[in-house]
Parts: sequence; C-alpha cells; structure tokens
Amino acid sequence: MTKSRTKTHPDDELVFLPLGGSNEIGMNFNLYGFGPATNRKWIVVDLGVTFGDQTTPGVEIILPDPEFIEAYKDDILAIVLTHAHEDHLGAVHWLWPRLRAPVYATPFTAFLLREKLRDAGLLNEVPITEVPLSGKFTIGPFDLEMITLTHSIPEPNGLAIKTPLGTILHTGDWKIDPDPLLGGVTDIDAIKRLGDEGILAMVCDSTNVFVDGHAGSEADVRVAMNKLIASLKGKIAVACFASNVARMDTVIRAGQAAGRKVCLVGRSMHRMSAAARHVGLFQGLEPLVTDDQAKHIPEDQILYLCTGSQGEARAALARIAEGSHPHVKLSQGDHVIFSSRVIPGNEIPIRNLQNNLADRGVRLYTERDHPGIHVSGHPCRDELKEMYQWARPQIAVPTHGERRHLLEHAAFAKDLQVPQAISPRNGDMVRLAPGHAEIIDEVPAGRLYVDGGVVTPQNGDALRERRHASFNGVLTVTVVMDSRGKVVSGPEVRALGLAGDADYPLQTALDDLADEAIDAFKRLKGDERDNDDIIEMAVSRSVKKAAYRIWERRPVVETTVMRI
Ligand SMILES: [Zn+2]
Ligand SMILES: [Zn+2]
Repeated sequence: MTKSRTKTHPDDELVFLPLGGSNEIGMNFNLYGFGPATNRKWIVVDLGVTFGDQTTPGVEIILPDPEFIEAYKDDILAIVLTHAHEDHLGAVHWLWPRLRAPVYATPFTAFLLREKLRDAGLLNEVPITEVPLSGKFTIGPFDLEMITLTHSIPEPNGLAIKTPLGTILHTGDWKIDPDPLLGGVTDIDAIKRLGDEGILAMVCDSTNVFVDGHAGSEADVRVAMNKLIASLKGKIAVACFASNVARMDTVIRAGQAAGRKVCLVGRSMHRMSAAARHVGLFQGLEPLVTDDQAKHIPEDQILYLCTGSQGEARAALARIAEGSHPHVKLSQGDHVIFSSRVIPGNEIPIRNLQNNLADRGVRLYTERDHPGIHVSGHPCRDELKEMYQWARPQIAVPTHGERRHLLEHAAFAKDLQVPQAISPRNGDMVRLAPGHAEIIDEVPAGRLYVDGGVVTPQNGDALRERRHASFNGVLTVTVVMDSRGKVVSGPEVRALGLAGDADYPLQTALDDLADEAIDAFKRLKGDERDNDDIIEMAVSRSVKKAAYRIWERRPVVETTVMRI
C-alpha cells in the first residue's frame, strides 16, 4: 500500500466532492478533501466552463459556482489541471480570485493558462508550478503523480492522488490511442503499478460509456484524411477543434502532401498553433501562409484549416458560410470537411451552417458519410474495460457524464467486478475512506453565468427577464405629469417584438393600451397620484392584463413616470 508521510488520525476522512462535471459533460470542478471534518485540506482537480445555448440568450460561458468551497479557501492547497480543454481549465481566470490557490499543470496546459491569465490581467498574481510529464509532487497530505494518457489535446494527464487513507486514480479525459501521432502513449505500466500497489477509487471519464469497442486512433484519421484531401479539386476548408493539435498536424501535412499551401483561419487556430510550437510540436512542417497570401494562391493549391465546426456564430466557418468572411470565399466546386463530431446541443447551429455552405454549392464531408475523418477522444466500453483491468480499483466513481452515462458506467464497473460503484451528483460529498464509500453530505453546487462580462448567479434577474422578453416582447409606457399631479403628456405606449395585423394594426393596439393606462391612472386616489412607484405599478398591471387579452402572452411592461 501507499507510504504514509502523515500519520492518520482516527477522525481522518478522504472525501471526493464534485462541484461540476457530474451529471453533465462540461465545467469539471472536482475536489478531494483529507482530514477530520472540522479541518479538511482540499485540492481542486480541474476548473472548467460549460457553454450557453438557446436557453441562455446572451450567455456564452457558464461557470461552476464555487460558493461552498470559497468558505474554506485557506484550506485549498492547490488547483491541479489535468489538461487544457475549456471544460477543465476555462474557469480558472474567472474563479481564481475567489479561491487563490497555487496552480499545477504540465507545460502545454500551463502555456495556455498563462495566455488566459494575461488577458484577464492576472498573470502576475497566480502562482503556476509547471510539472513535467510523469512528474511527482507533494501538496500537504496528498502525494501526486501525473500519469500520461491519450486524448484529443496534447498532454492529457491522469492524476494519481496518494493519501494516508488510500490512492485515487483521477483519470481526467482519456482514451487508449496506440498511435496518437503527438506525445506519448497511455502509460499502461504506471497504471498497472498503481493497481499493484492498490487503488482505492478510480474517478473516471464516462463520455462514451454507451459506445461499444474502441474510439479509434489519430493515426487512422491521418490515413483517411490523406486519401480524401488528395482526391479533391477546388478549394478545401477543414474544420476541427483547434485544441486537437494532432488533428491540426494531420490536416496540415495532408494538405501539404497534396501540393497545397495551408492557411489557419480563426483566432484559436493561431493560439493553439503557438502553444504547440512552444512545447516543440509542429516540427518539420512547411511554412503556413497568411490570409492575405492565400488570396493569391490558385484554388487547387490552398487548404484552409478553420475554427467553427460546432456552428459557433462568430467563428470562421460560420462567416465563410454566410459569405461575410473578409478573406475566405467558398463557392461551387469547393469542399468543407468536418473533422469533428456534433456535440449534443449544437445540432441546430451546425445544420444551419451546413445548409448555408450547401447553398453556396460547397460539397460537405462529415464523419457520418465519411467514417474515418474523425475519432472521439474519450474511452469506449472496451477501453474502459481495459482500464479497470489495469487499475483494479475498490471503488468506481464515474464522472464526466450526464446522469444516464454515470449510472450506466457504475453498472458496467460492477459487471467488471469492481466491488463498489457510486455515482455522485454535483454537490454530493462522497466519503471514500474509511469504511464503505457513501454520500455523507450534500453541499450547494450551482452555476454562474458570464453575462456581458459580469458573473451573475444562475437565478439572477437579468437572464430571466431577457428570456421572458425574448419570448413575449416588451411594452414601455411613459407618462409625463406636472407638479400638481396632472397628466400633461401620454401615456405613450411603445412595443418591441409584438405584432399587429390588418384587422387590428399594432398602433391601434398601442392606443388601446394607452387608454387602459389612463383608466388605471384615473382609478388612483389623490395621494396615490403623488407616488411614482404606485402609479408605475398600477399602470403596468393593467397594461399587462390588457396585453394578455390582445396577444395571449405576457410582455415585459416597463412604466416610467416623469414629472416636469
Ligand atoms: Zn478533454
Ligand atoms: Zn472534458
């Protein structure tokens, strides 16, 4: 078993507490605590974001709410990052000022984190320790070891966390890729060694638990991509995640092998390319061309590597599809290859994007019709099975999945003879040792919205009102009164997002609403007419009622009283 530097105390406990990433794929925020309940020391593993969708208009970035652990921030000894995907590191620059713990990461991850911290003005505040691949380090009662895995970004690490009460293998995101093209292969020996020493709990990626077999190798994508790109005439644009540096490398080499110059399009392509070069990747490539140079290259000799495979409205590919990109134009006879999958929730924007491209006469290639041009970065069932055989944990703790993924993963682990499996939700505190693993507490775990650069609570008024307004429209009512309480102008009613028709034009409706407002005002008693709040409330209420009779919906009504 593990050496124990710290003597255990009878009250010591080892707990796992997910505050994000359990019951969802995104915003991973995992905590491990050691010590008696009254004096626990914590480490954070990953601090990521998730992204807004149609239900959160105007909100692109969503953070895990650190409220619970913020109260113990002096006891947070470290924030350890497994890899540089946004769902694992994207919240650091937002939430670090509330947690203020030193950060540990391997070089590629640290490089990208520094970029974000620089943009946020925090670079000189956040202490970052760069850990080498396979590096070991000690933080309080935790002995940590980075375990090299394979995934879809350089330097994906699992984390062995040794404590006096047992060892945890926190896998982070992984797959088993025997030929990842860039970086090392899965460090099977290290996992087996930990398994021999005894792993108490494995906290493990559940993303692909419903998919049989293996995820497939980046090397297979290279073969498929080389073949496809070599066969095409006309301009080619390839969309993939910029963070998949091996994929970028594949596309660049495939383009160059087919006699094409390659041009990166989109900010994150350039950012990732810089990070890749920083850690010594992208060796032996011909020089890339700039947007400007690309314009003068014949169409059979250019390949664009673009951001925007998920239909993101402001990304390069969406602008190309709309014909509004300043440098890249695609038309009849050109090709767009989606070297990516459809992330659940992005179906509609991707469909719109693909329709726009098709409308320009562009031919599309997706993993559905061209298997092999994309592979997943997460473990399918055969890979999970192998991992459990190497690690042999006493307890399986599925994470990185929606509820159905976590429960299926727990059942699968039991089938694989893992003695115990437990699937916490965000906020469930799991005692891993001593004794049988169980949920011992439920703590607050919510979301924060980055709304126009301001971090707001999930249930804040702004987004609720905006969502309400976007479905129901807005009415504004303005009344101008003199100092004696007489109406001198108005009420004037204006509408946003409400419709009229030939039988009942919008202006008629607004005039009727103005009459309602006057009637509401007239019903007020003398002294009530001196109080603007009472007037605004009474007018709004009766306009709302009348609006419902007209449109059968409840617009946001905003009444303003002005006195002259
Ligand atoms: Zn990842
Ligand atoms: Zn992830």
